[in-house]
Amino acid sequence: MAKIFCVANQKGGVGKTTSAVNLAAGLAKVGQRVLLVDLDPQGNATMGSGVDKRQLELSVYDVLLESASIQEASIFSEKCGYHVLGANRELAGAEVELVDLERRDQRLKAALEVVDKDFDFVLIDCPPSLSMLTLNGLCAAHGVIVPMQCEYFALEGLTDLVNTIKQVHANLNPDLKIIGLLRVMFDPRITLQQQVSEQLKSHFGDKVFNTVIPRNVRLAEAPSYGLPGVVFDPSAKGSQAFVEFAKELVQRIPTL
Ligand code: ADP
Ligand code: MG
Repeated sequence: MAKIFCVANQKGGVGKTTSAVNLAAGLAKVGQRVLLVDLDPQGNATMGSGVDKRQLELSVYDVLLESASIQEASIFSEKCGYHVLGANRELAGAEVELVDLERRDQRLKAALEVVDKDFDFVLIDCPPSLSMLTLNGLCAAHGVIVPMQCEYFALEGLTDLVNTIKQVHANLNPDLKIIGLLRVMFDPRITLQQQVSEQLKSHFGDKVFNTVIPRNVRLAEAPSYGLPGVVFDPSAKGSQAFVEFAKELVQRIPTL
């Protein structure tokens, strides 16, 4: 059975997409069968996995509107070693088109049930809002991985997300829980980041992943080459951290 995780945080620019593509590549590297679902109309996870969003014949949009299956609409990225269900601007329209449809928040879940045996992990890169798209991700998932920067308002921002997850858990998806908080873009020289990191650990205990992703320019450069950092420069500190994170996640699965 595939483990299905959303990479979510309602803030933009916190490292969701970077975490999603590099975790996908890290999991593939340690032998896992991975599907990465891009649920953001910006299509950054698609482009960052070597798939041109402007040339998609079918995308997650068609899957949500039930005009294509995931088998039909996903593409295997040879370079990255995982499957991609891509997105582009067309997906922004799905928000409106889904409103009047039945089971509008369960579309992705239903589509994933069909490919459940084909993958070990499904990672869903969510947009930075609680939209119908994010809701489809949260309804389909077993859990949420929350990338966060250790900044002053980090804990405050987390409250909204935790409440959303609680509501979805109570009303729509009893499986849903927080898998863990991933500290990203971490700079140990900054005292405030160390302090916030400690606060996170005391509030959330073992819900904070042991692996810390450092701020690393190679991770930021990789998308312009259409690759996750893990593939673009495997020796970079940030890439190594994501492979470590993939291993930590695989180890945690039996305890979830
Ligand atoms: P989100 O998907 O949450 O909007 P992104 O993953 O696109 O966030 O990241 C926002 C920006 O930060 C991007 O320019 C990305 O390249 C950069 N970035 C993300 N993680 C790191 C990191 N660990 N080190 C350096 N830059 C990073
Ligand atoms: Mg993103």
